[in-house]
Amino acid sequence: MYKKYFPYFKNSKNIYLDTAATAQKPSIVLDAINEYYTQYCSNTHRSNFGDANRATTEFEHTRELLKNCIKAKESKEIIFTKGVTESLNLVASSFVKDRFDTVIISSLEHHSNIVPWHMQERSLHKGLEVVNCDEDLTFDMEHFENLLIQNPNSFVSITHVSNAFGKLHPLKNIIQTAHKYGALVMIDGAQSLPHFNIDMQDIEADFYTISGHKTYGPTGVGALYVKAKHLEKLRPYQTGGATIKDVSYDKTVLLDSPFKFEAGTQNIAGIIGFGKAIEFLQNIEYKNIINYENEIYEYLYEKLGEIKDVIFYTDSINSIGSLSFNIKGLMAEDLGILLDKMKISIRTGHHCAQPIMKKLGINGTARVSLAIYNDKNDIDIFIKGLKRAIKILKD
Ligand code: PMP
Repeated sequence: MYKKYFPYFKNSKNIYLDTAATAQKPSIVLDAINEYYTQYCSNTHRSNFGDANRATTEFEHTRELLKNCIKAKESKEIIFTKGVTESLNLVASSFVKDRFDTVIISSLEHHSNIVPWHMQERSLHKGLEVVNCDEDLTFDMEHFENLLIQNPNSFVSITHVSNAFGKLHPLKNIIQTAHKYGALVMIDGAQSLPHFNIDMQDIEADFYTISGHKTYGPTGVGALYVKAKHLEKLRPYQTGGATIKDVSYDKTVLLDSPFKFEAGTQNIAGIIGFGKAIEFLQNIEYKNIINYENEIYEYLYEKLGEIKDVIFYTDSINSIGSLSFNIKGLMAEDLGILLDKMKISIRTGHHCAQPIMKKLGINGTARVSLAIYNDKNDIDIFIKGLKRAIKILKD
């Protein structure tokens, strides 16, 4: 039903089931990028002529759209970055380092919410704590609370939705509990916005990281939401053009947020394109996205469940977007290779989440990740292909 908005599907016969890695882009995003480069390509926030002013206006329009979309209070709370990886690293290096004794993460983190902490010489029980999860990957609230009690000066950094398994964390509860013990919270929101709306006033995250390319926008674009009261303490980790109010050889006076964090020429076309992706989602409306995706996710779960020897890691109720599985006795990679030959694109492997794979005693999984452009026909083709692949590998 929504495929028609995405040129990729006119040009490719692939059944695309890898949106958790990156989403396809609708025409309005691609057209906006083309329009910027072909009709008013100029730098933003610098020159003062017609096209440059238009570029600045369009660029800032994306900030407003994102602010309204996630219900941030002020525009200065939205900082553009390259993506979630950069947003997490910015907070890790410019806010958390040297300020917090302990960083608490969940068992389901992407490497980009593990490695930055290792780079600060933190390791398990030495400045880094990991909240347990039970066998269906449910976040262990009791363990979390104990960790907060045992580590009074903690910073919590937790994914909203696991990219590897699609598991949804009980975010409000996590944030309220952390705040009860005086801990601040950053959320890795890479897998959220494509699937459901988020409300900063409701969840009360201190930092929330957003990925443009997973939200139907271009690659190389993302954002960091910072609650206004933390902005003063967040230091820019790089500076340069467009970040300054005044420079002499003695000193620099930086601009206020967000500009002091956006050094150098930004990914202008990408940010303008990201704005169109947000408009695209708003036109469809999140309630429709949620209903539609729930329906196809349940369908996928049901059809996969009918396959002999399938191993699931989560239930379907508390999961969204991605579904990971294995077939007993087979390597996920082999399934992926055979499915690729049938023009069905899924992802296999550890999904940049090696620690949880190790904990589960597996090398990886086969992961199907869905988006609004997928439909039951895609799932039927995938299931048929999977059955064929299993037969080839088992015979
Ligand atoms: N966290 C999670 C949960 C992700 O899925 C990803 C992307 N796979 C990232 C972080 C990194 O995001 P980005 O590509 O925007 O840097």
